[in-house]
Amino acid sequence: MTVDYTKEQAFVDHLLSLPSEKLNAIRGKPEAVIKAIHDFEKTADTFYMDIGESKGQAIVNEIREKKPKIMVELGCYLGYSAVLFGKELLQDPAAHYYSLEVNSIFAEMASKVIDLAGLSHKVTILVGPATESLVALREHLRKEASGFHAFDFVFIDHWQKLYVPDLRVMESLELVAPGTVLVADNIYIPGAPEYAKYVQAKPDFKREYNAKVQNANGNEFVGRWDILYDSKTVPIEFSLGTDAVEITRCTGYVEK
Ligand code: SAM
Repeated sequence: MTVDYTKEQAFVDHLLSLPSEKLNAIRGKPEAVIKAIHDFEKTADTFYMDIGESKGQAIVNEIREKKPKIMVELGCYLGYSAVLFGKELLQDPAAHYYSLEVNSIFAEMASKVIDLAGLSHKVTILVGPATESLVALREHLRKEASGFHAFDFVFIDHWQKLYVPDLRVMESLELVAPGTVLVADNIYIPGAPEYAKYVQAKPDFKREYNAKVQNANGNEFVGRWDILYDSKTVPIEFSLGTDAVEITRCTGYVEK
């Protein structure tokens, strides 16, 4: 199957071929790059699947509250969310943003956008299926980071049918632990009801679900039924109507 990248190429070309005065004015300034993207998208006769202004701001607020050291996103696309959220980590030299993207062409395009925003030192794109990158990232953190700890903040925004499978991967690898905040996009549009049900479920439901439903991303990633979540679906108006994000806080484990 041939994939048409015309609209994504137009997005990147537009940003990189702005008149030099404008380009120099936004280079190294994440907010200005985001604004240039908004300006371009308003005039484009097509939809770009980035998180966008209103849902993005709600997530920025959560990041500001959490102040993550390790933030991970599943689904980079053209780097909009990596720039919008990665800039929030700038004040903390120890904080880093990992963006997982399966499509190497999108990853290449996103790296140009992230570079333009001056965030290449803060954001690392890992190319490949999220499941594989999560395994690799865990190894990297164990080796590189002094005193491995779980992810502080995860933005889940790849394909809805992979939300639960990849959450089970993160649970199994202990990348989600008490204190981790998970935010998942597209809960209403196109919809991720199974994910919302999973994170809002009581441990007994998860125990049965994880025993019965094989993980499409690897049988070994059963998940952890005993992780406790406090989760809510937050509706947000955006350009196409009302969508929602699921905001989930890992609060502890079931007492044995
Ligand atoms: N977070 C981006 C933003 O707000 O700018 C938008 C992400 S877009 C909705 C979804 C992205 O997830 C696409 O670029 C797609 O290639 C990627 N994707 C799909 N399946 C994936 C997987 N298994 N692992 C990693 N990335 C995946």
